[in-house]
Amino acid sequence: MKQTPLENWILQRTGIHERSRQALEEYQIQQLASTLHYAKDNSRYYKKLLAQTDIDSIKSISGFHAVPFTYPEDIRKKPTDFLCVSEKEVKRIVTLNTSGTSGEEKRIYFTEGDLNQTIDFFQYGMNCLTDQSDRVLVLLPGKAYGSIGDLLKKALALSHIECIVHGVLRDPEEVEQIIMENGISCIVGIPMQILYFSRIKSEVFRKFIKKVLLSTDYVPGVLVQELESRFHCTVFNHYGMTEMGYGGGVECQALTGYHLREGDLYFEIIDPATGKPATDGQYGEVVFTTFGRQAMPLIRYRTGDMARFSKNHCACGTFLRTMDKVIGRITNKVVFDNSEEMHLRELDEIILKYSEVLDYTAAFSRTDTLEICLTLMKGELFEKLQEEIAERICAGWKTDLKLCMTWKPDSRIFKITNSMGKRNLIRLQEGGGKDG
Ligand SMILES: [Zn+2]
Repeated sequence: MKQTPLENWILQRTGIHERSRQALEEYQIQQLASTLHYAKDNSRYYKKLLAQTDIDSIKSISGFHAVPFTYPEDIRKKPTDFLCVSEKEVKRIVTLNTSGTSGEEKRIYFTEGDLNQTIDFFQYGMNCLTDQSDRVLVLLPGKAYGSIGDLLKKALALSHIECIVHGVLRDPEEVEQIIMENGISCIVGIPMQILYFSRIKSEVFRKFIKKVLLSTDYVPGVLVQELESRFHCTVFNHYGMTEMGYGGGVECQALTGYHLREGDLYFEIIDPATGKPATDGQYGEVVFTTFGRQAMPLIRYRTGDMARFSKNHCACGTFLRTMDKVIGRITNKVVFDNSEEMHLRELDEIILKYSEVLDYTAAFSRTDTLEICLTLMKGELFEKLQEEIAERICAGWKTDLKLCMTWKPDSRIFKITNSMGKRNLIRLQEGGGKDG
């Protein structure tokens, strides 16, 4: 098995000479200190937040763990307070409208140097799965300068790998044509879009697609199993978010979790309730700190994603850490009166198992009815599906659930309500508003 190419890349970029956690950690402590100094000296937000922090006294990782967290709401309130460079040095601004109700948006800024750092990671990250014999189709946004698709294309060009950036899937017929005309062997895209496409265009998928890279949202296990068993694809997961500079980590050929971009980012897993570090193997919230980011460094940024560090060494033999696959957003759940929880990922495992289902939405109304709407190829299957799915949902939770299931036909034009956003289990509020 090929060792993750991220290892050599990180050794080169960090300049550390030994393959050891200790050497990498020493490098990371230096980088953390320089991020703290840079952010405190150059951004209004960190000047205030770190006013009481004596950065020079931080000599260890545990010392760093006393530094306060940064929350997404802080960016939303006043993104410009995070800026460390003049506005003319900003080459890319990403606006993330994550909240359904408030008008505040999260803005993430990048300089040319920041974008180049991501291209560098993408180049070596893509080497985990592709080589020059591949032709890659990217079903992610790519028109704008510095968008994820644009950076991926530039990264693959450095490895002389052919790449077409199409944008998110809207018209399956068009994407089918592109795959056939260009002999595409590898697709990069959003998990639910790839599943959808594979279910309605299974022939072309089986014939052409050998590798899949899933990104931008957590990946249901049932989805990976289906792509592997139905199409004999190798399915790689990438973990990243815009705030990280898009990329955070990618699986090696062992496919047992992501190796992380440890030369550019410092990752922690914390107990979301106490803020204390979780032990390896224990699930918690992913927190990261950027190294060398010019426009908008982030320190101990709370991602809201749930994951854990693996306790095992990866079969590829790297000394880099492995993070087990993200299992979703911490808030992506509904808590019932008996304190039982229902997570979107649990519904996914039940509902997406049926290959007739092309997509679905789930929402709780204020009367505590779980409303599920299935997108189906054919309506005549609905009654059977409804019965089976309802039975499995009722068996999974002790709470007395009221279920209301409906279906709608596949429009063949994938409706992108929030193209790069994460899927949500929605609780509808009185008046019809949405609450994350
Ligand atoms: Zn590995």
